[in-house]
Amino acid sequence: MTEHEYKFKINAKVHQEILDFIKAHKHPRMDSPVDGKSFKYSFTHTSIGTVVEIQCCMCRKKKDVTDYDCW
Ligand SMILES: [Zn+2]
Repeated sequence: MTEHEYKFKINAKVHQEILDFIKAHKHPRMDSPVDGKSFKYSFTHTSIGTVVEIQCCMCRKKKDVTDYDCW
């Protein structure tokens, strides 16, 4: 079986948005909220840029953290 690796680059602004979102979703039931295990990330490639979304697996809230300024 051949394995393939997918990589997505995010800039500092998007990274900060993700950290803020994780900080805002420290639900008591989470063992280790900072490691990002309880969050779902989605990267959607479009012809003009990559849409980045993060979703909290505890409360299902979603946030679009795409940096549209650099599109
Ligand atoms: Zn949450």
